[in-house]
Amino acid sequence: MAKSIIIIGAGMGGMAAGIYGQINGFDTQIFEMHFKPGGQCTSWQRKGYTFDVCIHHFFGCRPGTDVYQLWNELGALPRDLVPIEECTSVVSPNGEIFKDYYDLEKLKDALYKLSTKDSKQIDQYIKDIKVFTNKKIDDAMASGSVWKMIPIFILRPSILKWFNMNMSTYAQRFSDPFLKRAFSLLIYANPDGPFFFHLMRHAGGLSGDIQWPVGGAIEVAKSIEQRYLELGGSVNYKSKVEKILVENNKVVGIRLSDGTEHRADVIISNTDGRKTILNMLGGKYMNKIVRGYCEPLQDETTFAIDVFLGVNRDLSREPSSLVLLLEQPVTIANHTYESIEAQIYGFDKSMAPAGKGTIKVELSASYAYWKGLYNDDRGKYKQEKKRVAELIIDILEKYFSGIKDQVEVVDVCTLMTWERYMGGTQGWFNFPNRKFEFSIREDLSDKKFKWTLPGLSNFYLVGAWASAMGSLAHNAISGRTIIRRICLNDGKELKIQA
Ligand SMILES: Cc1cc2nc3c(=O)[nH]c(=O)nc-3n(C[C@H](O)[C@H](O)[C@H](O)COP(=O)(O)OP(=O)(O)OC[C@H]3O[C@@H](n4cnc5c(N)ncnc54)[C@H](O)[C@@H]3O)c2cc1C
Repeated sequence: MAKSIIIIGAGMGGMAAGIYGQINGFDTQIFEMHFKPGGQCTSWQRKGYTFDVCIHHFFGCRPGTDVYQLWNELGALPRDLVPIEECTSVVSPNGEIFKDYYDLEKLKDALYKLSTKDSKQIDQYIKDIKVFTNKKIDDAMASGSVWKMIPIFILRPSILKWFNMNMSTYAQRFSDPFLKRAFSLLIYANPDGPFFFHLMRHAGGLSGDIQWPVGGAIEVAKSIEQRYLELGGSVNYKSKVEKILVENNKVVGIRLSDGTEHRADVIISNTDGRKTILNMLGGKYMNKIVRGYCEPLQDETTFAIDVFLGVNRDLSREPSSLVLLLEQPVTIANHTYESIEAQIYGFDKSMAPAGKGTIKVELSASYAYWKGLYNDDRGKYKQEKKRVAELIIDILEKYFSGIKDQVEVVDVCTLMTWERYMGGTQGWFNFPNRKFEFSIREDLSDKKFKWTLPGLSNFYLVGAWASAMGSLAHNAISGRTIIRRICLNDGKELKIQA
């Protein structure tokens, strides 16, 4: 009889584990607390508008890369994709605009028009981008493989300096004041954003490795789910797992919140590791390292609020991502902003009714602030969401005259929304403490943690807690890695095709 595997959570890691599990002859089923697949890879519809909370960059669209191959194995590709023209654009209150085009000739022209006195630095910026367009670097970065990166660093030690630099530091190399300010905000309007990631995005946009999946994140998730179902897997929705059942230090099944129990030979958890280890397993299987990872996170300031707007306005000629420099700093939900970034989905007609458009403004804020409001006074929490949306609409009105009267739908999602639908510890921000150390250790040595727990047999973690990476591909790869490991334990090679 085939070995049975229960997977908790239909996120990227869980569904990938399911697909490779089915391909390799295991009898798998997924239990998911939400009513749809994808976890963080999600979007939803309101009155004909699609609101996508996830995808900024969908890596792996260029044939020949590891991630492209992965998406094909998982059924996420082939699909309709839209190439995006520019990485990010930045506009000042007086209408000066910098479009950070992927195309290097266009980019150079745009930059020269803004500041000829920065010509030397502009040429250097183009050269820096070109280094990352090397296919081997591009591929190694997108697949997140330390093993692939080591030879690259050995051959090109000069690129190591970019890993230690943020956008704000690199921006100081420009002398033009607008360019200096604009450049530092090219990654999600965050001056602390890592410069190497910016170069990576440029390389991906230029080569076609980054494109937009038509319909947004949920369509990607649904096609992965479909591949899983076609392979004979099954997903049980609205099925919240509360306990992992253990006998003689070996997992034997799960108990759902409705009290029903389900048995299996192996359990793979794709959920927040902290909740899995401390709650579902009662904190019994921990050593010093695991305890460290489970320690509470600090009050991270992270993507905390998304304001979605459906507007009766043609946005098809607007930049895909526009950072608005504010005349005056604005305080929104206890956080002061000097700029905000709007994602404008005019490039994908399927995201809105004909002639209309969808906008998302993503704001970073403190988790504790929203958690406090939510717990103390649900009325105030709702009121604050409404107030945030009104402030954002007022800001947008200054750049898109008349938009205020064109708003047809408003939706605001906070970290509390994530928690309600996905059960994480800090909204979607479900990482182990000391995450970087975690990922390096796993990738390089695989000796200490092994994505399993000390003293517990037949149990594995996949997803953000296993990869410690916030990317669709990395977390999908973790699902494949675990099935490979289970195959190896059984003396089999991993098959990647049915
Ligand atoms: C705002 C935002 C923007 C992002 N942008 C990008 C991007 O542009 N490009 C990119 O590559 N990546 C992006 N990511 C990251 C990417 O979406 C995630 O890394 C990836 O989707 C996480 O996959 P995962 O395997 O960890 O599963 P998760 O998505 O964390 O899914 C876990 C699943 O487990 C379920 N679950 C939890 N508890 C239980 C329980 N008790 N019982 C049953 N089910 C349970 C949840 O409902 C969920 O479906 C973004 C993420 C966010 C939040």
